[in-house]
Amino acid sequence: MSTMEIERLHTSGVYPKRDLEIVRGSGAHVWDADGREYIDCVAGQGVALLGHCNRAVVAAVHTQAERLITCPEVFYNDQRAKALALLVEQAPEGLNRVFLCNSGAEAVEAALKFARLATGRTGFVAAMRGFHGRTFGALSATWESKYRDPFLPLVPGFRHVPFDNLEALSAALDAEIAAVLLEVVQGEGGVRPCSPGYLAGAREVCDQHGALLILDEVQTGCGRTGRMWACQHHGVVPDLMCIGKGVAGGVPMGAVLFGSRTPDLPQGAHGSTFGGNALAAAAAVATLRYIRDQDLPGRAAQLGEWLLGRLREIQSPRIREVRGMGLMIGIELKEKVKPHLLALQDQGVLALPAGPIVLRLLPPLVIEQADLERVVSAIETTLSA
Ligand code: PMP
Repeated sequence: MSTMEIERLHTSGVYPKRDLEIVRGSGAHVWDADGREYIDCVAGQGVALLGHCNRAVVAAVHTQAERLITCPEVFYNDQRAKALALLVEQAPEGLNRVFLCNSGAEAVEAALKFARLATGRTGFVAAMRGFHGRTFGALSATWESKYRDPFLPLVPGFRHVPFDNLEALSAALDAEIAAVLLEVVQGEGGVRPCSPGYLAGAREVCDQHGALLILDEVQTGCGRTGRMWACQHHGVVPDLMCIGKGVAGGVPMGAVLFGSRTPDLPQGAHGSTFGGNALAAAAAVATLRYIRDQDLPGRAAQLGEWLLGRLREIQSPRIREVRGMGLMIGIELKEKVKPHLLALQDQGVLALPAGPIVLRLLPPLVIEQADLERVVSAIETTLSA
């Protein structure tokens, strides 16, 4: 049986799949089983910030796999200590504590629990069109009914307000709210950056009501938007920050960073078997050093600005708006995006959707400008057809 036949037979069925078997990757390129090359603007759903099989990450994983793979947090570990120090060094000022886990949703779960512990309150405010993951807590914060409805009842205490609307946020806050949870650029919700002033305003109303501000930087973090963290575009430091995706160069890792507004957490209050494991920690050390030393946020800012400009030059009646920050870009269409994703794939470009009508690009931050030129011309071809 072929790979596709075996997967079709035994996979859970929860993923919509494309007929493409990817077997190898290097930088911003992947190859299918027939040896055909693609420019990868899916990048593992935005995970492969350093490209596929980045030498520094490969070497770190290789060396660590031969030394020590697993080591729970009840013991100390050299690689974990280095990863924690690097994360804090690069974090927004004052976020100097880290809970390590294995995914974005786990980071959101942990942040929600920590916020309840820190405040003694139970309520949360999140945004319409927000996406925070699929586990029960994270799903309760997620807005879209197609993700939520099959699993009701969810965790009680969540209110949703329109994104980027400070008045609505302010009106939703009261003495029951432990925290406000927001993305800085809504990713799955359609690549929607918030307006200047919104986050600073959110910070202020949280402070007025004694609520914590949790920012979900799972998709926007680690340089994607042109700064290490998207909140840095707004000069805002959250109380808790959730990260994931590319922080360990493709090895699963998530984390919650927090500061002094979250008091010391009681021992046993939370935990994870794999959280802080030595293999992921070593990969994170290599990744965080590479992002810093190669100034990948700066590269994302420069290439992203150029790419936004090039995409905005495309003349097509199918385009409603091109928007984004750094190398997180959405092209909102006036029609369904799926046929265009398949047409791009036929032209050797992999891109992803953000909802039904937004074409999303999350390329590796190391991608060459020449590759992005090819992406622009493929998009132009499909949207002009
Ligand atoms: N938060 C945001 C903003 C995300 O974009 C995602 C995943 N796309 C998640 C949380 C969930 O991350 P994971 O799939 O690693 O659980």
